[in-house]
Amino acid sequence: MELSGTVLWGDDFEPVQGTLVVEDGEVVRLDEERVDSDDIVLPAFVNAHTHTGDSIAKEAGRGLSLEELVAPPDGLKHRLLREADRDDLVAAMRRSLAFMADTGTTSHLEFREGGSDGVRAIREAGEGVDVDSVVFGRGDPEVLDVADGYGASGAGDGEFGRERTAAREAGKPFAIHAGEVDESDINPALDLDPDILVHMVHAEPLHLDRVEDSGIPVAVCPRSNLVTDVGLPPVEELLERTTVALGTDNVFLNSPSMFREMAFAAKRFDVDAVDVLRMATRAGAELLDANYGTIEAGREARLVVLDGDSHNLAGYRDAVRAAVRRAGAADVKRVVSP
Ligand SMILES: [Zn+2]
Repeated sequence: MELSGTVLWGDDFEPVQGTLVVEDGEVVRLDEERVDSDDIVLPAFVNAHTHTGDSIAKEAGRGLSLEELVAPPDGLKHRLLREADRDDLVAAMRRSLAFMADTGTTSHLEFREGGSDGVRAIREAGEGVDVDSVVFGRGDPEVLDVADGYGASGAGDGEFGRERTAAREAGKPFAIHAGEVDESDINPALDLDPDILVHMVHAEPLHLDRVEDSGIPVAVCPRSNLVTDVGLPPVEELLERTTVALGTDNVFLNSPSMFREMAFAAKRFDVDAVDVLRMATRAGAELLDANYGTIEAGREARLVVLDGDSHNLAGYRDAVRAAVRRAGAADVKRVVSP
């Protein structure tokens, strides 16, 4: 396979005009040359945090607080999930996964409710869809028999020591929400030595020091935090300390489009477009220990091709900024995934 255009090459996403050569699903080389193509080729996205189950209730819950929306067991989302017919749930998740694939996301880290059955439901939803769901289950530790990891709701909701140990024994990652509403659950979450922290909106200097010392990566979901009115994460400070990946969080609150999340992050925080693109690609891949997320020789070829001559993007002056701040679903010409 050969893809011509402006390729955002390497860890710094340097725009290089040329032809990208892909063989057997792997990036082989980039031939620098003048090409007659306006396409922009970038790494496919990793959505670092999703709850796809609440695809059954898009835009429900107007005016409710975070607790009323999502707190287990009786937040709106959990009531709707309990009431949902399983076939409807699977069908709704399938539509969201297909939308992720259409918008250039080839893998996502999913916090799945509903224990082992919940994990099986999203596996079923994803059959035949070109997106890898890395599923963090919750509930009894035996969920780890079918899940890819354990996803804890938060250290304020329980102890989670048993679940943390079970994940370690299973050789699977343990992720946990922390610091979404306030700072009270951050230290207890850090005490569990998680593999991934989610949110960290209310991280204070002490927590940032602990994050840096432990090297724990953070998934931030700024549009979700905006909608639930809990504040915004200290993205600039977190980037100085650790790996920071970008996620879209609950599908009922926000569309799982990484374009929208990138544009918001790039415009709201004092960070370069290059940093935001890294949060949406390479950083998420690092959470998965995956060999993709940048375009380099030897990397797995997971790519998004944008039409740089679309009505939306025509005449752009900066390929990275165009991809991060301006591009959207309609500009996607092609997604390359395994
Ligand atoms: Zn979450």
